[in-house]
Amino acid sequence: MGAQQVRERFAELYGADPEGVWAAPGRVNLIGEHTDYNDGFVMPFALPHQTTAAVSRRTDGVLRLHSADVGGGVVELGLDALAPQSDTGWTAYPAGVVWALREAGHAVTGADVHLSSTVPTGAGLSSSAALEVVVALALNDLYELGLQPWQLARLCQRAENSYVGAPTGIMDQTASACCEQGHALFLDTRDLSQRQIPFDLAAEGLRLLVVDTQVKHAHSGGEYGKRRAGCEKGAALLGVDALRDVPYAGLDAALARLGGDEEVVRLVRHVVTEDERVERTVSLLRSGDTRAIGPVLTEGHASLRDDFRISCPELDLVVDTALAHGALGARMTGGGFGGSAIVLAEATDVDTLTKAVEEAFAAAGHTAPRVFEAVPSPGARRVV
Ligand code: ADP
Ligand code: MG
Repeated sequence: MGAQQVRERFAELYGADPEGVWAAPGRVNLIGEHTDYNDGFVMPFALPHQTTAAVSRRTDGVLRLHSADVGGGVVELGLDALAPQSDTGWTAYPAGVVWALREAGHAVTGADVHLSSTVPTGAGLSSSAALEVVVALALNDLYELGLQPWQLARLCQRAENSYVGAPTGIMDQTASACCEQGHALFLDTRDLSQRQIPFDLAAEGLRLLVVDTQVKHAHSGGEYGKRRAGCEKGAALLGVDALRDVPYAGLDAALARLGGDEEVVRLVRHVVTEDERVERTVSLLRSGDTRAIGPVLTEGHASLRDDFRISCPELDLVVDTALAHGALGARMTGGGFGGSAIVLAEATDVDTLTKAVEEAFAAAGHTAPRVFEAVPSPGARRVV
């Protein structure tokens, strides 16, 4: 929905024009999966899909929230009553941001918020981070808090971890807050240092497709926790703070020290090789060899499927079908057990490839996937 429509709806709901309108994008992760809670590297870029928010300040300690994308009217919350994990609905995300800002000592005294989003929810494209970041940015501007985008990302992560109660890393919020058009963001999740890596696919005759399988397997939450605990166990056995500290060159020696714990061996191998794949992707892109990242993406998928074991038949079908029809590379992206895959292809192959994936899904009796092109887009910003 456009900024103007969001403004008009705000005025209908709250009886006055908003003070401004902001937007924050969803993201896909090009490479670097399940590395963010291991202090490792990730490389997301922002999608053209975004969450738009019209926002005004209030001075009476009240937060009013409305989303065009869910049923129901305006939800009114008192700021003094905001408490972590007190809310299981969508309002926990924006309320959590206000809570995190106030916890950090920022004098936010209330707001009226109306939201509308084009980011698919629950597809691994970070609609939750887009929602958090757009609210954080609006309040940062309106209350003149002077926080940098990476600091807003941190506060949003705190909102999601502590207030909503979802144990996620720092990637999604940083991507939404900090990405730049035509670039992927090389982020070191240990010290939050970041570099913008030119990633202008169209200029090279390439396309990156996102294939949303529309599948969400129910056990994904528990499995995420298990993988995370397994990685922590691996780090403890190896005597390092995080798996990020295991050098790629010393991987075989490290695996040999894990005492035959096959599950931990697989998890450690994925994380250490995945960090190396991010670094390889960065150097290929910096040398202008974009096509050469295809096989790196595909290697990443094999590692997530065989070592980390978080793929599913639908994701494997996207990857296998795309590769059989000329894709340069493909992999699942996001948490796993459903959600989306990405496919890097020559622009000229996109139609054939898309049709092949759709036909393969139909033949296997799966729900039709949603396929769209991901153009590296701008991060969060004020639009009106
Ligand atoms: P993802 O971030 O991968 O899309 P999550 O489960 O982390 O999936 O977040 C999705 C949740 O975020 C939704 O269930 C909803 O509670 C909230 N959400 C996202 N976008 C909106 C929106 N535009 N309006 C209301 N709630 C939203
Ligand atoms: Mg999310």
